[in-house]
Amino acid sequence: LTSGLESAWNKLKGEETLTKENIVEPMREIRRALLEADVSLPVVRRFVQAVTDQAVGVGLIPGVKPDQQLVKIVHDELVNLMGKEVSELVFAKSGPTIILLAGLQGVGKTTVCAKLAFYLKKLDKSCMLVAGDIYRPAAIDQLSILGEQVGVPVYTAGTDVKPADIAKQGLQEAKRQNVDVVIVDTAGRLQIDKAMMDELKEVKRAINPTEVLLVVDAMTGQEAAALVTTFNLEIGITGAILTKLDGDSRGGAALSVKEVAGKPIKLVGRGERLEDLEPFYPDRMAGRILGMGDVLSFVEKAQEVMRQEDAEDLQKKIMSAKFDFNDFLKQTRAVARMGSVSRVIGMIPGMGKVTPAQIREAEKNVKNMEAIIEAMTPEEREKPELLAESPTRRKRIAQNSGKTEQQVSQLVAQLFQMRVRMKNLMGMMEGGSTPALSN
Ligand code: GDP
Ligand code: MG
Repeated sequence: LTSGLESAWNKLKGEETLTKENIVEPMREIRRALLEADVSLPVVRRFVQAVTDQAVGVGLIPGVKPDQQLVKIVHDELVNLMGKEVSELVFAKSGPTIILLAGLQGVGKTTVCAKLAFYLKKLDKSCMLVAGDIYRPAAIDQLSILGEQVGVPVYTAGTDVKPADIAKQGLQEAKRQNVDVVIVDTAGRLQIDKAMMDELKEVKRAINPTEVLLVVDAMTGQEAAALVTTFNLEIGITGAILTKLDGDSRGGAALSVKEVAGKPIKLVGRGERLEDLEPFYPDRMAGRILGMGDVLSFVEKAQEVMRQEDAEDLQKKIMSAKFDFNDFLKQTRAVARMGSVSRVIGMIPGMGKVTPAQIREAEKNVKNMEAIIEAMTPEEREKPELLAESPTRRKRIAQNSGKTEQQVSQLVAQLFQMRVRMKNLMGMMEGGSTPALSN
């Protein structure tokens, strides 16, 4: 998606203003990019029309270039399409909150049960999982093991009891134990079929859930629109969870959910681990689709593991494209503490898809980077220019860190590349309303 959109903006380089004529080509690129990203055709049509109307009608803000203006309009419209604001989970006013998970087979429902319990535990809510997938004994074991990992009780009743009855019994048990949130796992099928829908309807009727969340694999593509529509019509959903956003996923499914069903995406799954569940931020998703990287999620993630002031400082420096080797070191250490660099790399602008081999490579690089930066003088860390200018300094650092001169040069180059990328990113956003960035 990114490259298509980039060429869309580039087509406006050198133009003075946005006109009916000069946005034809960029709009064609945008349309193509969205279709390539598996956004469904009706959604793309409405989107392109909305953007075109705004682009031609709007007066240029002084100092804002036409391509930036179009980026802003497309960005805002994407945000609009995905629901504008973060949509929080709803909790019951009295009694336990009941969350029913639905979705096709293999999309990540059972994993989401555990991730959600882990997520809610951090919000000081007690949880219970209910094993409502009775068709494979392995599914019950999977949920039990995950529940143990998170440290929450799992209600199971074997494979001979109807899912609706299991759900009802689980709810009773949760009430007895005074649990805050009950999460009900259900069986999926490879395709939508009547038996699955009937079963879900029955479960829903039995427990009257606070939330019915459709779990959607981000790789679903074009079918996402039909899938969401059908589940919503048949059982009535309150929102969706988009999983596997860490993979080679395109933005398509995210754009369809809100558009076709009027229901928000509430959470996203970004990996297989328990902690890989986050709120869904429409503005960040839009930024990512537009090729700006997920800088904000990155900063937020870093904040969790860094001291607050350090994080604010780093954020400022990233935004001002001035960060030095001290920041680089802080950042790489934070990354190391996060346990996995894969996700973070995916969030850095200009870095696309990451393979497992690249992840291992990156993890090795973090160690090398640390060694090299540690061999620098405080002055060199603050003024990377010194190293760019002096081969003698680079040689000394190579010797002291036990790395090659080439590795040192590469690291210096990397820092400057990063600065350039950040600067470009800021340039693109200049004049754009990116509320989350301004605080
Ligand atoms: P279910 O059939 O809907 O219950 O799906 P599962 O929860 O059993 O998940 C199916 C597979 O997808 C498992 O191997 C999970 O580890 C994997 N999975 C689930 N969520 C994610 C995610 O966000 N990212 C990645 N990469 N894998 C996931
Ligand atoms: Mg399952």
